[in-house]
Amino acid sequence: MIVELVSVGTEILLGNIVNTNAAYLSEQCAKLGLSCFYQDVVGDNPDRMKDVIATALSRSDMVILSGGLGPTQDDMTKEITAEVMGKELVEDTHSKERIQAFMDDYIKTNPTMKITKNNWKQAMVPKDALVLDNANGTAPGLIIEENGKIAILLPGPPNEMIPMFENQVYPFLQKRQPEIIYSQMVKICGVGESMAETAILDLIDKQDNPTIATYAKTGEVHMRITAKAKDEAAAKKLIKPMVRELKVRFGKNIYTTDENKSLEEATIELLHDQGLSLCTAESCTGGMLSARLVNVPGASEVLKVGLVTYSNRAKRKFLMVKKSTLKTCGAVSEKTAKEMAKGGNFVNGTDVCVSITGVAGPDGGTKEKPVGLVYIACCYKNEIMVQELHLNGNRAKIREQATVKALTLLRECVLEHYKTKK
Ligand code: ATP
Ligand code: MG
Repeated sequence: MIVELVSVGTEILLGNIVNTNAAYLSEQCAKLGLSCFYQDVVGDNPDRMKDVIATALSRSDMVILSGGLGPTQDDMTKEITAEVMGKELVEDTHSKERIQAFMDDYIKTNPTMKITKNNWKQAMVPKDALVLDNANGTAPGLIIEENGKIAILLPGPPNEMIPMFENQVYPFLQKRQPEIIYSQMVKICGVGESMAETAILDLIDKQDNPTIATYAKTGEVHMRITAKAKDEAAAKKLIKPMVRELKVRFGKNIYTTDENKSLEEATIELLHDQGLSLCTAESCTGGMLSARLVNVPGASEVLKVGLVTYSNRAKRKFLMVKKSTLKTCGAVSEKTAKEMAKGGNFVNGTDVCVSITGVAGPDGGTKEKPVGLVYIACCYKNEIMVQELHLNGNRAKIREQATVKALTLLRECVLEHYKTKK
């Protein structure tokens, strides 16, 4: 079934409010297995609203509208939808009683308030419409059906719309749409987006159910596998072989299949499982790496020291980088990165130390050491892995990429050590 979302309100068009209703409703529709091809925003204007609703009903099976159900003059979603669908408005006794009860209650705590004539406007409903009670306001929601098309009208305020959708609309749609959509995330680090996509081109070409979509994140690629099936168990069964195939193709570069797990979380977990303590030794990222690690609850069990050694002097004092190394190779060099990582463990008694040193720009670049040149190193029990990076973008982007690459190297270093230990 094809569904179209229509958000009503001039304040959305003007950017005064963010259209969170559309985000919520699209997510719910996807969960229900409904295909959403169009989303519209229309102001409180009768002609344009008429046009949008008529178009939506001509190309989609169902339209879900939010906003414009209130008692004031500019709230006209119900009237316009009824007109487009050829339905007359009739008084709904049940809604009238609910409005009376709601207002009586409201007046008790706000004695200066009165029920006004326009409150009763909300008790008028299109003939044969299904009325949805509003637990948090006066405007009832509506489900109108005509000629095989459905219009669902919901109030604009999210605290009214969401419970109404959850409790009344979701079950209604579930009955109409027996298929559900279920998706599984696969998160990959250490592989570029185009490389990742090339590695699965054949899978993308022959995809049907499940489908596979890739999203590029800074230093990571996320793949979402989505299946349509009669229930969650059946969808999981369809998804499983695809996840297995991705595991074969990307191996240890997959750091999680948990939608909510971040790279830093997976890395902290890995170190924690091994009982390893960590030190970070950062220069150009200025604490970004330790900040990301500290985002993870329980990071203190692993991260013991987070150093920002910005100057040469600090690199010598806190990480025992040799004066001669800084003099002959410079602060941004493979040798310095290695000495930073080694010194971090030595000085602090940690098991693993990851270091970052580079030119984040916009100034400070030279022909030999241009902006974006970054060295990262990871030392684990005196074995050191080091990488030279050539990063693009502005200062913030370079620092962010260097941080993710360092996290990836840290993870790789620990995994590598397992392999050689076994
Ligand atoms: P009311 O009875 O409050 O007038 P209504 O159904 O007529 O409700 P609107 O008048 O369109 O709804 O919007 C009322 C408020 O609801 C807006 O000021 C805004 O705070 C919120 N709202 C409306 N539409 C959206 C939306 N698409 N996303 C997020 N919030 C919204
Ligand atoms: Mg309103």
